[in-house]
Amino acid sequence: MITTQSEALYEKAQQLIPGGVNSPVRAFGSVGGTPRFIDRGQGAYLWDVDGNRYVDYVLSWGPLVLGHAPKAVINAITETAVKGTSYGAPTAIENDLADLVIDTVPSIEMIRFVNSGTEACMSALRLARAYTGREKIIKFAGNYHGHADMLLVQAGSGVATLGLPDSPGVPSGTTENTLTAPYNDLAAVRDLFERYPDAIAGAIVEPIAANMGFVMPEEGYLQGLIDLCHEYDALLILDEVMTGFRVGLGGAQEAYNLDPDITCLGKVIGGGLPVGAYAGKRDIMAHVAPAGTMYQAGTLSGNPLAMAAGLATITALRRPGVFDSIAEQAQKLTEGLGEIMQAQGVPVQIGQAGSMFGMYFLKEAEAHIRDYATAKQYADTARYGQFFHAMLAQGVYLAPSQFEAGFLSAAHDIETLEATLNAAESAIKQVT
Ligand code: PLP
Repeated sequence: MITTQSEALYEKAQQLIPGGVNSPVRAFGSVGGTPRFIDRGQGAYLWDVDGNRYVDYVLSWGPLVLGHAPKAVINAITETAVKGTSYGAPTAIENDLADLVIDTVPSIEMIRFVNSGTEACMSALRLARAYTGREKIIKFAGNYHGHADMLLVQAGSGVATLGLPDSPGVPSGTTENTLTAPYNDLAAVRDLFERYPDAIAGAIVEPIAANMGFVMPEEGYLQGLIDLCHEYDALLILDEVMTGFRVGLGGAQEAYNLDPDITCLGKVIGGGLPVGAYAGKRDIMAHVAPAGTMYQAGTLSGNPLAMAAGLATITALRRPGVFDSIAEQAQKLTEGLGEIMQAQGVPVQIGQAGSMFGMYFLKEAEAHIRDYATAKQYADTARYGQFFHAMLAQGVYLAPSQFEAGFLSAAHDIETLEATLNAAESAIKQVT
């Protein structure tokens, strides 16, 4: 595979942009090699600047649930753009997308649009604090909620600890109110509530932990979290930035029958343009300015192009059969991968929910990954790196990290499935 153009662009980019990328994981840091510079996408495929074609399972890290450049979305953006790109004043299309999301995601009664998942989570925490008058929050080790200071906390393992900043530049004062607990461990959360019964505003959780690989919630875990929060008059914030419109049409909350207080959205909701949202119960959302006093604002929030893309995406996804058929492809893919790995005697842990999936290569056949500690302990990142490159060389673009999830779109079909499984069969034989 020739990648000379990507190599040249990457070299130049590193002189211009820190690490040559505008978001770290794009740099292939954990798998090594040159990141592919992309020229275009269509349907399930990406083309790099050297003309190589890949079946894409990254899909811009989740948003592109209809695939690349779907006609309905491109038309909606184009028709909107000719009228202007931003007004800084309310538009009807914000109501339209709000209506559609409220109708699709069960717990949501009101919504505020922002520009990214980071903003959504940051604002949701401010809201939980404003609503409860409390300052501490709980996050879970290995869960990612964007790069806001208070959420960039070292994912501690084993025992619940007070948060320590995860990055230089994050003041310890900012994270001293961030408590961490292991994922899938209700006892650790109860312990935190018992230590700080009147000080915890809420807990924020990824319903499926898909930023440390792909870790499913254990039976009763998520409902148990909601119950614990409510027992202590705290709020449960469900971060559905990744799982929204993916684990179920109505998100993980629909799939697992949950009624969170606040929901964070991003990715799919913007159909490939920058949108995030925090949303929830009417009496909680009423605290947001200017209805209430919790301040949050944005020059480009509710941007018409982004609203148009989100509206077209979710409208298409709601058509009968569309969501189910993407989920069916995802199931076939993971079943196929499982069979291939089993036939080769390669231990893996595979997860799939709706149109998302993940596959850990395991260092030990009997290992089971259920939280961040076990992910770090048992995930065979070296083997994943080899597999990743063997797949890439055959035209399959997986996430360039063992600790990221994979995504399918409505454009993934039997052809992409067969191509992927054939590639996997050959790739696994090249892996040591
Ligand atoms: N929350 C979750 C669960 C995410 O996966 C991400 C990003 O991957 C974020 C929040 C942050 O979203 P953004 O990258 O749009 O700021």
